Amino acid sequence: MAGDTSKKSEPPDWYADGLKHVWLPYAQMKTVNPPLPVVHTQGSRIVLADGRELIDGIASWWTACHGYNQPHIRQAVARQLERMPHVMFGGLAHEQAFQLAQRLAALLPSDLSRVFFSDSGSVAVEVAMKMAVQYWINRGAGGRNQFIAFKGGYHGDTTGAMAVSDVEGGMHALFAGLLPKHHIVELPDNEQRLAALDTLLAQRAGDIAGIIVEPLVQGAGGMCFHETQVLQRLHALADRHEVLLIFDEIFTGFGRTGTMFACEAAGVTPDIITLSKALTGGTLPLAATVATLKVFEAFWSDEPQKALMHGPSYMANALGCAAANASLDLFEREPWLQHVALVSSGLLQGLEPCRSMRGVKDVRVKGAIGVVEMESIADLNAVRALFIAEGVFVRPFGNVIYLTPAFTIPPDELKMLTDAVVKVVRAL
Ligand code: PLP
Repeated sequence: MAGDTSKKSEPPDWYADGLKHVWLPYAQMKTVNPPLPVVHTQGSRIVLADGRELIDGIASWWTACHGYNQPHIRQAVARQLERMPHVMFGGLAHEQAFQLAQRLAALLPSDLSRVFFSDSGSVAVEVAMKMAVQYWINRGAGGRNQFIAFKGGYHGDTTGAMAVSDVEGGMHALFAGLLPKHHIVELPDNEQRLAALDTLLAQRAGDIAGIIVEPLVQGAGGMCFHETQVLQRLHALADRHEVLLIFDEIFTGFGRTGTMFACEAAGVTPDIITLSKALTGGTLPLAATVATLKVFEAFWSDEPQKALMHGPSYMANALGCAAANASLDLFEREPWLQHVALVSSGLLQGLEPCRSMRGVKDVRVKGAIGVVEMESIADLNAVRALFIAEGVFVRPFGNVIYLTPAFTIPPDELKMLTDAVVKVVRAL
């Protein structure tokens, strides 16, 4: 049962044998808390090898929006596995990818309608950057190799994506020497910053391929929210100075902020959008970089060198596309908007007591994202362990404790999550 932390036993053999050989993400291997052996997942629950169940507060890095082991997705993947797990996408086509591309085009605003599939969020960002740079080359205006990106931003762990994240202020500062230099500036969330960005663009637009931003929520950089007006301003600036606008909706896409895509809330269509994470409902790695016709048409030519030279081996993997199609079925048939609204009000109500606690800097909620920002967290490992002891899986980073549960989490399990956050924050 969730929260029953009493029954601990020896980990299974595969665990001890394998632990000596794996290298864990974002972890100091010497001091990291040992990872928890998981044998099963269901809904919002993670079942450990020793029988304990944890309520999952972050839906596996925000991917599992419909909850784990969702039968409709599972069945779709199983059917596809029987028929054909994968074929290369160069020279071969398959129904799941073609159907998915068509459905994404119908779902996305305006003419965001040409879908380039890849296999992770970071790669989708790399593809977006290549598209933007080559867009200008193909139009006879080469030399635009730089991007404007934002402090507090995060776009992935590959080299290009790191370079447009907040290099100095983020987790990749060590690699500053490796990375190409872009303009990492403040979001235009006030008049002064807007004017500064306008000036930068006026001076440097000829070097700049595009502006890349996480719309509404800067996720892994600190779960910071901004207003829709910021996106409208960026759109106006991109238009005026003729640079492309890229929205990285890898975190915000598929309902997380309360609209299907964050760009809808702002009434703004970017030139390129990146999607991943919840695209497959948290089951298989798949990503998409989707371009408007304006961008696509710059590549449409009799000249081979105007083609986009990119093509991952597992591009448009059929299992991933089947999972994504099934996830979209669920978005069509389930009242996900209501689910997100319920999660949102549960987070608001449940996290509110933290606001007046010692060491708490801010409590904020947007859609199905709840954040308690602390002044600081001295020992992340210790705080993570406190959550496990409370029977929940919550993974604070930097100075934020956040919840991004599945949209389908039952109210009592959501309450267990928020109660655990309140209890742990009170104890800090
Ligand atoms: N972009 C954003 C906004 C993200 O939140 C992330 C991952 O957290 C990425 C890109 C990178 O995605 P992936 O981890 O699939 O490479």
